[in-house]
Amino acid sequence: MALVQFIANTTFASIYGALKSEKPLWETWKTQYAWTFITYFVGAVSAGCLLKASDTLGFGVVAATFPIIFFIYLTYRMYMKNVEMATTQAEQAESYAKILENQSAALRESEERFRSAFNYAPIGIALVSIDGNWLKVNRALCDILGYTEDEFLAADFQSMLFTEDLGNTLVKIHELLSGKIPTCQLEQRYIHKSGATVWAAWSVSTAGGESGHHRPNLIFQIQDITDKKLAEQQLKYEASHDALTKLPNRAFFMTRLEQAIVNSQFNQCHKVSILFIDLDRFKIVNDSLGHVFGDRLLVGIAERLRDCLRPDDLVARLGGDEFTILVEGRYEAAEVVRIAERLQEKFAEPFNLSGHEIYSSASIGILHRSEKHLSPEDMMRDADTAMYQAKRAGKACHEVFSEEMHEDVKTTLQLETDLRKAIEREELSVFYQPIYSLKSNKIQGFEALARWHHKTLGLITPDRFISLAEEIGLIDALGEQILRKACQQGQILKKNFPADSPFTMSVNLSCKQFAKMDLIETIHRILKDTGFSPHELKLEITESVFFEHREKAVGMLHRLRDLGIEINIDDFGTGYSNLSYLMQLPISTLKIDRSFISPIDAEGHNLEIVQTILTLADSLGIKVIAEGVETEAQMEQLKKLKCEGAQGYFYSKPMSFDDTNEYLNGNEKKSAVVPSSEFKDVSVLATIQ
Ligand code: C2E
Ligand code: MG
Ligand code: MG
Repeated sequence: MALVQFIANTTFASIYGALKSEKPLWETWKTQYAWTFITYFVGAVSAGCLLKASDTLGFGVVAATFPIIFFIYLTYRMYMKNVEMATTQAEQAESYAKILENQSAALRESEERFRSAFNYAPIGIALVSIDGNWLKVNRALCDILGYTEDEFLAADFQSMLFTEDLGNTLVKIHELLSGKIPTCQLEQRYIHKSGATVWAAWSVSTAGGESGHHRPNLIFQIQDITDKKLAEQQLKYEASHDALTKLPNRAFFMTRLEQAIVNSQFNQCHKVSILFIDLDRFKIVNDSLGHVFGDRLLVGIAERLRDCLRPDDLVARLGGDEFTILVEGRYEAAEVVRIAERLQEKFAEPFNLSGHEIYSSASIGILHRSEKHLSPEDMMRDADTAMYQAKRAGKACHEVFSEEMHEDVKTTLQLETDLRKAIEREELSVFYQPIYSLKSNKIQGFEALARWHHKTLGLITPDRFISLAEEIGLIDALGEQILRKACQQGQILKKNFPADSPFTMSVNLSCKQFAKMDLIETIHRILKDTGFSPHELKLEITESVFFEHREKAVGMLHRLRDLGIEINIDDFGTGYSNLSYLMQLPISTLKIDRSFISPIDAEGHNLEIVQTILTLADSLGIKVIAEGVETEAQMEQLKKLKCEGAQGYFYSKPMSFDDTNEYLNGNEKKSAVVPSSEFKDVSVLATIQ
């Protein structure tokens, strides 16, 4: 019965187990219940035997066997437990093995991924030992620095850096290794295998060494930023340099000057001086030869400026035709003056611009810094003042700034204000200087010369206010007033003029007036308003008009001639006359400048230039008037050379309108013939300068 029950029970249990583990029924039964069966069977047989034995041997003996049976039972239980534990352990080991297998596959995969990321990364990556040996480098780094992997491994990190950058790098790495900073970034130069400079942005962090067993290594990430750096440098260069001459520009100069001032404030021995250079008549070159030549001249000038400097001096182009030189350090003031002299000498040599020989000169203002110069602007202002004084002193020279110059500038400013008012109130007057015919010895007309009666300074001559009026843009108004007055008063003077001489009135026109489009219309209107005949008017212009206004001036002069007005070239010989120009122009008279007349003496010395001008004018059919005739001998010599006209203190100084009227009345009495000692006396007496 026990067997039947056991077999039935274990069969059902085995069916369940077989279905669960998907193993054959017999196999399941065998592994799970075979031993149980055997022990049950042995137990049952033993029980039967015990029963039989108790019948024959007695109960006491049988009872004595119970501990043995219990022991057998315990042994069996232990055995079963062991079997169960072994099974569980096997199952656990199996699942551990699976996990380990999965993990090592993932590790392999991530290693693979890391390797390919390292090798193919677009930025350079390197593992460097803390001794500076390259341990591993990727392809990108090989490309960036031009070395092969083997060459890298044979070299060290320091050998690829510029010596001057090494200190900074090592400090950073030290901070990193000592744990002060977790990582660091720098932009730095590296040396390419070819020797070229490679700019790189790199960041570095430590790798390994946490356990303390190994020394850490350094992982560098290096990105090539050479193009960016070059573009940056180019931008910086362009922002601080002049595109044409490649010299530093104003901004750069001012920054350096500011630094120089700070240095000299801290150190008494550190001196600072500047030379402010402005080219003379540069506009004429630009206007006559064109901007291309003007630009070439500026480049040539920049080169010569560089040649004159000491290595530490800085030359900059401020703009236009203005340059500056900064001199700083320990030096004598005389050295700065010597720089200016060297510059003037250099400028005296002609510039050869594509076959054109051009002479240039510069006015130079020198300023030595004093305690009161606290900013670059202070220094520039005073250097500019000194330069302005050099211009006024006749150009092509240098002036050292002094406090008196400051006063001069103030006076000029005051004069400027007063001139504005005088022009506004039409306070300027006209003086007249007679012009004589050398052939007939008779007066042939007057030149109208502007005068200004200043309330405190007295009578001021045009040398002091015409250029000022040009600078402040009032020359058109001034010119218009003088022309109108000359025409109005000319109408009156004409009445007292000798009847047998044709009357002419010469009026000066500034070169700047040619910039005004309606100049011809204005002249026409004045003639109409005053009723003055255009045939009696002569306009005096200087040669610079042709250079400053070229074609436009030629056109305007033709229109004036068409109105019946004659054109005189004033101060002839002092400008840049291109003689071929003269032939194209509607010029009636050349007025030889006083500088060629005053050297003429009684023996007829220094007549060559006058002679040449007369021959030239004769061949072009142009009349000639000599300016600044002061002696009888000069007059006689000019007469001999057949010069048509003369003007100068020998005849009369310029006179006020009233004096001129008186002069004419006296003159008429003398039939307007000169020179007579009596007449000369009258004219001199009548002249109030
Ligand atoms: P400019 O037109 O050549 O005038 C002749 C200048 O020489 C005058 O000076 C006259 O006083 C001076 N002069 C004449 N004879 C002699 C002489 O024998 N010896 C000496 N040492 N000087 C003599 P001023 O009146 O001072 O005029 C100077 C210049 O100012 C003029 O030279 C002319 O270029 C300019 N100017 C005068 N008035 C006007 C004007 O209304 N408009 C313009 N745009 N310029 C004017
Ligand atoms: Mg004149
Ligand atoms: Mg003149």
